[in-house]
Amino acid sequence: MNRKYRKTLIAGNWKMNKTPSETKEFMTAFKGMLPKGRWCDIALCVPAVCIPAAVRVMRETRVGIGAENCNANPSGAYTGEIATNMLVDAGCKYVIIGHSERRAMGETDADVNAKVHAALNAGLIPIMCCGESLEQRELGVTNEWIAMQIKAGLTGVPEEKIRKVVIAYEPIWAIGTGKTATPEQAEEVCESIRTVIRKLYGSKNARATTILYGGSMNDKNAYELLAQPDIDGGLIGGASLVPEKFLTIIEAANQPTL
Ligand code: PEP
Repeated sequence: MNRKYRKTLIAGNWKMNKTPSETKEFMTAFKGMLPKGRWCDIALCVPAVCIPAAVRVMRETRVGIGAENCNANPSGAYTGEIATNMLVDAGCKYVIIGHSERRAMGETDADVNAKVHAALNAGLIPIMCCGESLEQRELGVTNEWIAMQIKAGLTGVPEEKIRKVVIAYEPIWAIGTGKTATPEQAEEVCESIRTVIRKLYGSKNARATTILYGGSMNDKNAYELLAQPDIDGGLIGGASLVPEKFLTIIEAANQPTL
């Protein structure tokens, strides 16, 4: 992390877990534990039906609520989909875009790019995910693959909007598997993502971009991962479902930095 130049963000991704009633219970407990004072940014991205309960409890706290997906179209005949202006109206601040679990359901880089534009236009902060498979890592093409995903996802995003985008590096082999990338492996890719941003948007913007690591980050390994200079926070699945564990990760994000 480097708090001098960019924001630190700890974001939870609940995936398809918790009902609205369980959301209210979690948020109430978590709100009671939140430290006072100046801490890192905190987001909880929850299932769409849980957004109202989450927003209600977290109103006037520093926790931003987010969605786990959006549709790129403003409105229309897209049964079951949710537009970005609906998320904003429901009180969302963030939206996860291009999670590998959604890419596995058929989401393409072009879809990711369209959703990033829709989120930015609506005033949401997109948390744009990228990550390699185990096969790609073993083939030694990780950095090339990630660079391609970043360039495709950010196509057409103008310089004045890049600082609103959060990037999450999530190696697919580390998500939900308990297999975390080592701090060195995670740092190497996050640093190379910053280099891609530098080439696209210049060094000031690269320095100001928040890049998260995600993939089995938990209360035990967060401190070491977050101590890396180019890892500016985490996108956390399993460990964000338990208030105490999520809080420990937030505490790890408030360690002294450079
Ligand atoms: C995720 O869903 O983005 C994730 C990183 O999950 P987990 O922390 O459970 O590996």
